[in-house]
Amino acid sequence: MVVLQKTLGFFLKKISSVIFPPICLHCEKEMKDNHSLFCDSCLELLTLCDLPKNSHTTYLFEKIGPALTLYSCFANGSQVLFSKTIAAYMMVQISRMAWPDFHCILNPSKSFAMRDLARELSCFLHATVVRVPKKGAVHLLILPEINEEILRQKKEDSTSKIFGIGIFRNKNSG
Ligand SMILES: [Zn+2]
Repeated sequence: MVVLQKTLGFFLKKISSVIFPPICLHCEKEMKDNHSLFCDSCLELLTLCDLPKNSHTTYLFEKIGPALTLYSCFANGSQVLFSKTIAAYMMVQISRMAWPDFHCILNPSKSFAMRDLARELSCFLHATVVRVPKKGAVHLLILPEINEEILRQKKEDSTSKIFGIGIFRNKNSG
């Protein structure tokens, strides 16, 4: 896991080095040695949440600090880089779960940001993006916020297998 996190940190620095000024996106601290999205201290706070492997849902971060800044930038859809970054974090989190291979990315949202994210994930996972579940296929439902209750509701009107990943956990229901 440490290796994955380090690789991700390296990746974040690389992909953002051309586009971003040397100022941390979250704390706005000047960065001398590299042009990353976040300074080293903020990058350390972007730690993926730990969840049991037998769960059917997972999420990336608690809704605070640099994660919330990253989400705000992602949600306003100004740069495809933010979708790429969140997709990379999702791939790391998915690799930690004991989940099967996915046939489809289930994206119910019409927002540009979520569409970008679905597209990025579909490349990583070699899966098709769909708006409604396909019969007999294994789906990865993506939402900004998720929990088991939301997944249960999605499963009720479908016979397909659905696993769910959110950027954050939805705390309102269950
Ligand atoms: Zn910072």
